[in-house]
Amino acid sequence: MSFRKIASIGHPILRAPAREVSRAELGTPAMQRFIDELVDTMRDADGAGLAANQVYEPVRVCAIEVRDNPRYPYKPKIPLTVLVNPILEPLDDELFDNFEGCLSVPDLRGVVPRHVTLRVRAWDRHGNAFDEVARGLSAGTFQHECDHLDGKLFVDRVRDTTTFCTWKEFERHHKQEFVQRVEKLVARFGS
Ligand code: ZN
Repeated sequence: MSFRKIASIGHPILRAPAREVSRAELGTPAMQRFIDELVDTMRDADGAGLAANQVYEPVRVCAIEVRDNPRYPYKPKIPLTVLVNPILEPLDDELFDNFEGCLSVPDLRGVVPRHVTLRVRAWDRHGNAFDEVARGLSAGTFQHECDHLDGKLFVDRVRDTTTFCTWKEFERHHKQEFVQRVEKLVARFGS
């Protein structure tokens, strides 16, 4: 197993749109090894997702996985998903308020409006077509990771800056209300 360093907010690589990956490049041992490292680093950091440019590789690749996650115990499970050149398409105008954090933004959370239902099209790590609909809280995770590939961080999308909080104050003052709210969303979609 090998791990990559994670870039923190302020590093320019997080602000530059990542480039597309060609099918030939995706098939190389170097790219496949990189994807293994991306997944290992995400798991080691207890992330729900990790984008390639967060570990200093400016390519349109991200990994998403939610198992029993100590950072996000209320999140519904998502099997390991590697997206290459992903395209997101909201399927309606409904939004929900997601309380997000990010491995590249240490000790900060904030409320971000996210689409509730979206179509996700990409390649998987072997170049096969990935075409699924993501719903509910899981849809928020896909939007967060794909934003990274466009050089965007969740802090850019926080509309009410008074919602910014540390993880400790989230636990103390905001978690209970948020979890009650997202449990309704999860009950509606199962995700
Ligand atoms: Zn992030």
